[in-house]
Amino acid sequence: MFFSGGLALKTPADRIARHLILDSNVGDVAMSAAAETQSGSSTRTPIVAQVTTPSGRQSGKHTVHWFRKGLRLHDNPALREGLTGAATFRCVFIIDPWFASSSNVGINKWRFLLQCLEDLDNNLKKLNSRLFVVRGQPADALPKLFREWGTTALTFEEDPEPYGRVRDHNIMTKCREVGITVTSRVSHTLYKLDNIIERNGGKAPLTYHQFQALIASMPPPPPAEPAITADMLNGAVTPLADDHEDRFGVPTLEELGFETEGLKPPIWIGGEKEALLRLERHLERKAWVASFGRPKMTPQSLLASQTGLSPYLRFGCLSTRLFYYQLTELYTRVKRVLPPLSLHGQILWREFFYCAATKNPYFDRMEGNPICVQIPWEKNQEALVKWANGQTGFPWIDAIMIQLREEGWIHHLARHAAACFLTRGDLWISWEEGMKVFDELLLDADWSVNAGMWMWLSCSSFFQQFFHCYCPVRFGRKTDPNGDFIREKVKKEFSKINNDI
Ligand code: FAD
Repeated sequence: MFFSGGLALKTPADRIARHLILDSNVGDVAMSAAAETQSGSSTRTPIVAQVTTPSGRQSGKHTVHWFRKGLRLHDNPALREGLTGAATFRCVFIIDPWFASSSNVGINKWRFLLQCLEDLDNNLKKLNSRLFVVRGQPADALPKLFREWGTTALTFEEDPEPYGRVRDHNIMTKCREVGITVTSRVSHTLYKLDNIIERNGGKAPLTYHQFQALIASMPPPPPAEPAITADMLNGAVTPLADDHEDRFGVPTLEELGFETEGLKPPIWIGGEKEALLRLERHLERKAWVASFGRPKMTPQSLLASQTGLSPYLRFGCLSTRLFYYQLTELYTRVKRVLPPLSLHGQILWREFFYCAATKNPYFDRMEGNPICVQIPWEKNQEALVKWANGQTGFPWIDAIMIQLREEGWIHHLARHAAACFLTRGDLWISWEEGMKVFDELLLDADWSVNAGMWMWLSCSSFFQQFFHCYCPVRFGRKTDPNGDFIREKVKKEFSKINNDI
């Protein structure tokens, strides 16, 4: 049985713990602050409460850039701002090793994150700098580092999700109290979401149509900024100690307490370098991109592709604005279909979900969520575990869930099939349970997009008309007529059963 029992993040405190770990920093520091505000259930002290005026502060600007998502040097306006006029800069990412192996975040996702950090460290080395991976509880670690380094400026990418907004608000307030200036910039989404909401009378648009009409009346999103180069440092340096690797190097999975024996080589390699290569390949397929319509499914398209971008957008190794504008540029040269079915339209769906969720802290649950239909779902732990482990007995559904667990990615319509099966199609189990399993296993799991899609697929919220109900046999047969995908994914299970017999 490979299911970890990490099925459910049952309580608000669990949810917060999950975010502490992976939102990337998960920003750990961050989440402690948000936790205090949102649920009152965390026992952690918000880090910002402990920030004191740096003693012995050196003159000049001394920047800490705090990476959470946005794990890249291209289109990083907050970091760029932090470098302006700085004497020193340090790029920080926080991991709490204690939480790592006990979290509800799958090993594939951790591996992907560590690869992103390695890549970021390599890119910073080219600027004679390094990444500082800070271990421990941010509540203890960061204030100490601010004092040790004489930090005067903190920069980070604006976090559009509700817990991040609360956290960042608290951080800004507390840092300013002790004279540390804080700068955050929008770069995870195309637009500043507050502007869209403001234009809609203070409410998030809840249909894609309405969303499109709003953004059509707004100035286009700002273009992506160029990558940070040595020229942009203007003399800013990163003071590095001899023990940097020991104190701040990127940890291994083993150091984080993961058992890696038998772990298969990754299908998806994390990092900005890989993201940019993929983008290039993606755009090279001009004919395909230009004619991109409804996501099509063939046995081949069910497998991980070399041009898939969603995990890179999720961790911010790839800027959405860069992707968007490169597509725009491509569209000026080739004929295209129109949103919502064009690839541009796909990126706007991401933006739409971020916008719908940004001011709704209950977006990932049914109760208390004003946009979610209240459905009396059944509780069936056994069926849920079988679904999550690819043991339902429906080979098509099982193949999809095995691929998800092994590789961390599944095709869009495979997600439809699995989600429909769990919820309104067959098992009548709450979408929240499915969302948590996807959250644990999907490399691209985004709080907003994942919850939004699960609500939609379970007919709990209606962002656009949607009627399909997927037969767990016929849909698979149509997509994978020879059973190649199923055979590849479930063959081990079959051989196990045969051996047992
Ligand atoms: P492409 O088809 O090449 O699209 C380009 C980018 O557009 C993607 O990388 C993604 O960022 C965005 N995008 C595409 N489709 C959607 C969509 N329907 N909604 C929002 N953004 C979209 N996508 C996520 O990025 N994170 C999630 O947590 C997530 N959870 C999902 C859960 C369910 C139940 C379902 C049905 C879909 C979910 N999706 C999610 C949407 C979609 O399946 C993936 O974005 C897509 O499969 C990624 O593959 P790709 O990179 O080849 O995307």
